[in-house]
Amino acid sequence: MCSGRIDLEFVLRAFSNGMDGVFIGGCRLNECNYITHGNYDALNMVLLCRKIIEHIGLNPERLRIEFMSSGEGILFAEVINDFVKKVKELGPLGKGEGIDENELKSKLEAVTKLIPYIKLMKNEKLGTRLKNPEEYDKLFTSDEIDTLFSEVVSYYIEPGKCQACGICLRKCPVEAIAGGKNLVHIIDQEKCIKCGTCFEACPPRFSAVMKILAQSVPLPIPEEARIIIREGK
Ligand code: SF4
Ligand code: SF4
Repeated sequence: MCSGRIDLEFVLRAFSNGMDGVFIGGCRLNECNYITHGNYDALNMVLLCRKIIEHIGLNPERLRIEFMSSGEGILFAEVINDFVKKVKELGPLGKGEGIDENELKSKLEAVTKLIPYIKLMKNEKLGTRLKNPEEYDKLFTSDEIDTLFSEVVSYYIEPGKCQACGICLRKCPVEAIAGGKNLVHIIDQEKCIKCGTCFEACPPRFSAVMKILAQSVPLPIPEEARIIIREGK
């Protein structure tokens, strides 16, 4: 219904499914029937996604957004013909860029997993309204996106510090933390969306949640080592 509904995940899924190009058609900017002006959100999402696919080695021209009214049939046909021509020139996804099929698959999977984190980190810019096309290329820079991926954070609960108060578990938005009474809590890295809520929520007197920057996360401690023995019990 609205181009603003299109998520980064939809676009990356299309590429993961082997589409050679993705075209998004939105209503003309500033002509939205609603106060939401979702086509601006779509534009920002596309600008971000173009930098992301460029980061993994794909040609950003495989993703295009254009704005037009439903009465502009001729313009629509022209734009689509031009896009199809461009995508044909680029060749099949990955092959055109010289990326091995399996390598591309794992790169797309890796960035798809980071979508919640990316959206969180770029939330402010994703909500901006760019006034003219000259600003489009400046919203997200290649260096900024390279830094974003090189500085991905992870969260880890230090077994020796966790007091099993359960606060992080209750506040985690995606149920990525496993715990229980007198059990050291652990984070399921596969489920974690790196929102940082547990880091903020863990009481300072425990400070058990560690923020790990661009490093591998220690493996969770074995089940039998998770029981916390309290003094006098
Ligand atoms: S960083 Fe967010 S998603 Fe990950 S475990 Fe902590 S609260 Fe849950
Ligand atoms: S909030 Fe901190 S101390 Fe409490 S269960 Fe979570 S990691 Fe452990």
